[in-house]
Amino acid sequence: MMRFYLLSLGCPKNTVDSEGISRLLQQAGYKAAAKPESAQFLIVNTCGFIDRAREESFAALRELARRKRRGQILIAAGCLAQRYGRELVTAVPGLDGIIGTRRWMEIATLVQILRAKDHARGRPVVMTGDPLGEVTKVTRGALQGASAYLKIADGCSAPCAFCVIPAIKGPAHSRPLETIVSEAQQLVEKGARELILIAQDTTAYGHDRGERDGLPTLVEAILAAVPALQWLRLMYAYPQHVTPRLIEVMARYPQVCRYLDMPLQHGHPEVLRRMNRPHDVDKVRRLVADLREAMPDIALRTSFIVGYPGETEDEFLALLDFVVEMAFDRVGVFTYSPEEGTRAAELPSQVPTEVKEERYARLMEVQQSISLARNQQMVGRVLKVLVEGQSEDLSVGRSYRDAPEIDGLVLIKGKLPVGEMLAVRVTGAMEYDLVGEPVSPVGQ
Ligand code: SF4
Repeated sequence: MMRFYLLSLGCPKNTVDSEGISRLLQQAGYKAAAKPESAQFLIVNTCGFIDRAREESFAALRELARRKRRGQILIAAGCLAQRYGRELVTAVPGLDGIIGTRRWMEIATLVQILRAKDHARGRPVVMTGDPLGEVTKVTRGALQGASAYLKIADGCSAPCAFCVIPAIKGPAHSRPLETIVSEAQQLVEKGARELILIAQDTTAYGHDRGERDGLPTLVEAILAAVPALQWLRLMYAYPQHVTPRLIEVMARYPQVCRYLDMPLQHGHPEVLRRMNRPHDVDKVRRLVADLREAMPDIALRTSFIVGYPGETEDEFLALLDFVVEMAFDRVGVFTYSPEEGTRAAELPSQVPTEVKEERYARLMEVQQSISLARNQQMVGRVLKVLVEGQSEDLSVGRSYRDAPEIDGLVLIKGKLPVGEMLAVRVTGAMEYDLVGEPVSPVGQ
């Protein structure tokens, strides 16, 4: 059983919030631990009211970050988290999650996301209220809300030189198909409209049992058993493991979101070779073309590491060219950080931090205009949107193109029923989010 350690600082209001956090985590199946050493999740409910309280909170976070063991996850909650948001990451290196005072009730979701996000290690998840101000979000989790994560395998058998997951979790181990299907049934019976399949590499599902096309078989089994399911989303595909049958099954069933998160890590063959990843970039080009041919409206997310050991300016420029050429809908960029015990950490020619950061900014800038252009192509279209939050005259939701907490939102005029899926006409586009209005009055 997973345990959490919760340190509550500051005023009595914080103590009440901490009790709430603790209760929600226990309801979600986690056990409280008295000491940080015996917990997988370390949570500090911070106080940012006066200087002394702020300093105490920073000190507690830094101390836990310093002592953090491999596999432990550190979360800052409370006022300091609300006030500083992402800036806290710079002040406290090692933070994995930040959750503000307005969203502490989503702690179980945050923990779930962090557990699911092993691929994105190094990139903290920030939940500090909504960009829209007064919008409140519903809690999403395995058992509540309209969206649920479903883990289909654990561990990883890929040999990526920068990644510590295989050493921590061991080789990939696929869960039995029947168990997953019955969990899917239970989740949908409890109200889930969207199931998100996760694993370190979902496309390796069944490989450990000698199956080549385990994932499409699983997808079909879930869809057959749970006809009421509206969206089935696949996360974390490994390019070499995306088979023609998977593409065919994704394209055949309308319930499968036309969405794929496929971390590619780089676009230059030599860097990919040093990463011990598939390095045939032309093959990736063909795969993306096949996906787009089978599903012209597919939203593709990927992620890249910049500043990998030995990455030259030319190699980085090749990555920029690749990103422009492929025009992915969303791109996550991470600056390389050496993980103890990995081969990459031992490689010569580590790239200086300033260079990594400068490359990060250049890549983000290039991608932002691509993401905006891709979003602008959606204007005028009608999308099914899952409504997840509302205020007096504005609601927020997601379309098939948006995985929760990772991608953008659709901002919709009007107070719409949370948890419903509605037809929304897109009227505007920003870099991350879309703006729209309901196609028919609510309730019709
Ligand atoms: S595919 Fe590579 S990066 Fe992803 S978990 Fe496995 S070893 Fe790590």
